[in-house]
Amino acid sequence: MKKVFNIADFRLCQKGVCNANMDGRDIVCVMPTGGGKSLTYQLPALLTPGCTLVISPLISLMTDQILHLRESGVEAVMLTGGTPRPLLNEIQQRLTSMASSQVHRHQGRDIKLCYVTPEKIAKSKTFMSLLRKLVEGGKLARIVIDEAHCASQMGHDFRPDYRKLSILRQFFPHVPILALSATCPPRVLQDILKILKMKPVVDGKAAPPDGTVYFSAPLYRKNLHYTVLPKPSSAKELIMTMSDYILQNHRNDSGIIYCLAKKDAESVAESIQMVSNGRIKTGVYHANVEDGQKERLHMQWREGKVQVVCATIAFGLGIDKGDVRFVLHHTVLLATQKSLDGYYQESGRAGRDGQDADCVLYYRPQDATRQASITCSDQDGVMKLHDILRFAQDMQECRKILFAKYFSASSDLSMASWTTNESDAMDRCGHCDNCTRPPANVEHKDVTVEAWQILKILEAVEGNGGRLTIAGLSDLARGLGGGSFETGGNGKRRNAKEKIQIDYDSVAGGKVRLSKDDMESLIVQMLVLRYLEEAFSSTAYTVNVYVAPGNQALRLTRFIRE
Ligand code: ADP
Ligand code: ZN
Repeated sequence: MKKVFNIADFRLCQKGVCNANMDGRDIVCVMPTGGGKSLTYQLPALLTPGCTLVISPLISLMTDQILHLRESGVEAVMLTGGTPRPLLNEIQQRLTSMASSQVHRHQGRDIKLCYVTPEKIAKSKTFMSLLRKLVEGGKLARIVIDEAHCASQMGHDFRPDYRKLSILRQFFPHVPILALSATCPPRVLQDILKILKMKPVVDGKAAPPDGTVYFSAPLYRKNLHYTVLPKPSSAKELIMTMSDYILQNHRNDSGIIYCLAKKDAESVAESIQMVSNGRIKTGVYHANVEDGQKERLHMQWREGKVQVVCATIAFGLGIDKGDVRFVLHHTVLLATQKSLDGYYQESGRAGRDGQDADCVLYYRPQDATRQASITCSDQDGVMKLHDILRFAQDMQECRKILFAKYFSASSDLSMASWTTNESDAMDRCGHCDNCTRPPANVEHKDVTVEAWQILKILEAVEGNGGRLTIAGLSDLARGLGGGSFETGGNGKRRNAKEKIQIDYDSVAGGKVRLSKDDMESLIVQMLVLRYLEEAFSSTAYTVNVYVAPGNQALRLTRFIRE
């Protein structure tokens, strides 16, 4: 470790992973980005005969790794769809002769690490038969699957080729698998184990000899300060707010602003530079930006010539900048696969160097209600949306605890991963918005009656075969649009599309007296607390299934100052 990698001591759970690896076990290792996952297989690769196969989704990441390894004198190669024919032949030749050689004969020239893209496994028969030869010759030491969450559709970055990696265990049942990830909530973990056909996770203490060993380093990073800020309703005002925020808090720091769509990234970049009179230099990064320009931007950003990258989530894997001091989220919903682990991952690109950094989420409930129909076409999408809405709506619970609860939902597997010490599992972090906001800045309002009214109105609509969107429900409950709704083409009155007038007094004891913002906030709150449920059709996103509230009072919490 010292001689080749110039690393003096193990960090986080590196030592345990290396040992389990040397022991030939199946392993899942979850470590935050920058934690040092590479060493957990590169070191064992040097210490065991044969070749370690590494599957990684990103060519730029692989190129980086190979450069580093070669500089350190390690024989490492990479095979992608773009590898030129002669080089491909040469590498395959070397692997073939390794496969058939006596144990240590070729040690000097042995390829210790072979990096490939997942499609090599999924699509190349030649490569698979080469692997078979290596396995038969006892020369495939282990299979490493980097960014393993890409195998699960429940994760935030599903890649179809990853799903096909199941054939590895099928064809080579005795080669140990090491799955690596920076974010892996329990349901994703279970999914990955199933897809990759790895053995069930066993408790470290009572591990039978062949279960998968699960490692996780603390996910909680105390240098990240999480804040959810109310998002102004006008785009222009939001730009001013963000620009002021940057000038006041991070005048000379590098940062990222994540935006929902390519055009948002472009307009945010342009507007921020403009309203700050050029004091904030911005750049744009999204899937349609041409490769050369992406590289240029990356470089300018690294050198500090561009201060803020306005990007879609395409800007992610492969960012190797340590001193990102802030990550702002322009909206709570960024992509169709959105979930709280996505937010954790994106915001986690701040402060890799361990110094303080800010993660700010600009939130309005209306963002969710507007986008829900795009985002949620199925139940899984709804669950993910609710996870992040619950996080955004919460103005009391510590952000660290909210993340911890989310990552350990329905299992205690990764609860411990948030703390190094079981006993402080539920301590508040003391430095997020909800830990530091003065009580005087918060106002609580009992809205039990309003919630009941909303349910009664919805009941009346439903009883008449009507369907409403969240925005529609909000308007109707406040008595807008003449207080009437249209019956749909389904339900009792299949054929008769008619307008029905709500009799507020008899149905709900009057109209609901809340502002538009409060109303939508309350409806979202009722959704995430499951007082309301959404229903879907192919064309519409509606709220029309409800459950009656229990006796618990509902409170609406909002900032009155920030
Ligand atoms: P990850 O893949 O988890 O994001 P890397 O494996 O790329 O992280 O490691 C991040 C950086 O930390 C690298 O520069 C690596 O050399 C360094 N590193 C890894 N382990 C250690 C350690 N035990 N001590 C010091 N530096 C380390
Ligand atoms: Zn906190």
